Amino acid sequence: MFTQSAKLANVLYDIRGPVLDEAERMEAEGHRILKLNIGNPAPFGFEAPDSILVDMIKHLPEAQGYSDSRGILSARRAVVQYYETKGIRNLDADDVYLGNGVSELITLALQALCNPGDEILVPSPDYPLWTASVALSGGTPVHYMCDEENGWAPDIEDIRAKITPRTRGIVVINPNNPTGAVYTPAQLEALRDLAAEHDLIVFADEIYEKITYDGTPMTNMATLTGEDVLCLTFSGLSKAYRIAGYRSGWIAITGPNWKATSYIEGIRLLANMRMCANVPAQHAIQAALGGYQSIEDLVLPTGRLGAQMELSHRKLNEIDGVTCQKAEGALYLFAKLDVEKFHITDDELFALDLLKEQKILVSHGTAFNWVRPDHFRLVTLPGVEVLDEALDRLGEFLSGYEQK
Ligand code: PLP
Repeated sequence: MFTQSAKLANVLYDIRGPVLDEAERMEAEGHRILKLNIGNPAPFGFEAPDSILVDMIKHLPEAQGYSDSRGILSARRAVVQYYETKGIRNLDADDVYLGNGVSELITLALQALCNPGDEILVPSPDYPLWTASVALSGGTPVHYMCDEENGWAPDIEDIRAKITPRTRGIVVINPNNPTGAVYTPAQLEALRDLAAEHDLIVFADEIYEKITYDGTPMTNMATLTGEDVLCLTFSGLSKAYRIAGYRSGWIAITGPNWKATSYIEGIRLLANMRMCANVPAQHAIQAALGGYQSIEDLVLPTGRLGAQMELSHRKLNEIDGVTCQKAEGALYLFAKLDVEKFHITDDELFALDLLKEQKILVSHGTAFNWVRPDHFRLVTLPGVEVLDEALDRLGEFLSGYEQK
């Protein structure tokens, strides 16, 4: 018998779990499933700007060999220059690591840090790769609450109460998946102050940085952590540049590196062990960051993403028994179900029932390490006609739903 390793015992990644398996089974039987479950822009008609593809194709002949394990210098310099325009002035190209998407870099950064018993503060709800990667690395994820009544802002008092001598770092996802919150400078400053006071590393996941709906750019955490707090900023091309399939992302390390030479050597070791990130996709970075930032048109209220978000938010709140905060950024709505009305005790079963009855695929809230079975996440990438139909069908489903 070959069994999986014991270190996977606490590793959960339920957004790709049994509900998705069932959807795939139904699709194989010929059913048309409305997929509102994954933030993958390209299949919904959001294609990358041509300039990125042209540049990547042009560089293919010279992308045949391995690169420096941190990534090609021109791309790392482009990341530095980009962050300079955002007010991050203490970043060196040697402190930028390119990876096969942010996903690879999240696991790499945590593997290099955590010893058994080390605690990492992770938001609840979260993007579940963070919790899973802390668990995989041998550390302990400790969830801090985000407050739905306060626009899903991090609850600073809850964080303070959960800091122990074993706390090593805090994860801040901004703009947030799954809640759509975009944190104010004051909220980020409060997080920065806690990190400074307790000497924590900040893991700033900013992959949705360019997807904000009110026209004001978000504040990058590293502009606030400055020279005082070690900050690892994670971002990449999957969302804003719509090339999730090419797998291209980076970590930018800022702050007191001198305190972290051993940790950074660990990151370098793991980067060396996987040779380098996919080299053609590294060539997309300079073209993307230096080119026309076309996502900005799409998020305006008149743009496609803005219109889809607006419609979804309105229609969700029109359903009896559903309430939903407005998303200020990212590609999702995290909607609340009246569990008493629907007798819901198992949100995964709710998602499965919805799939079977209406062929609509959403992700259940506890898959995002949310504490109660009373939320689900909807992806707002499909066109307005699809969203309109899906939300009509969700309303119809819920009008008769009572969980058995
Ligand atoms: N971080 C967050 C918050 C995400 O939502 C995602 C993907 O959905 C990722 C990281 C992973 O991104 P990548 O495609 O760069 O691996």
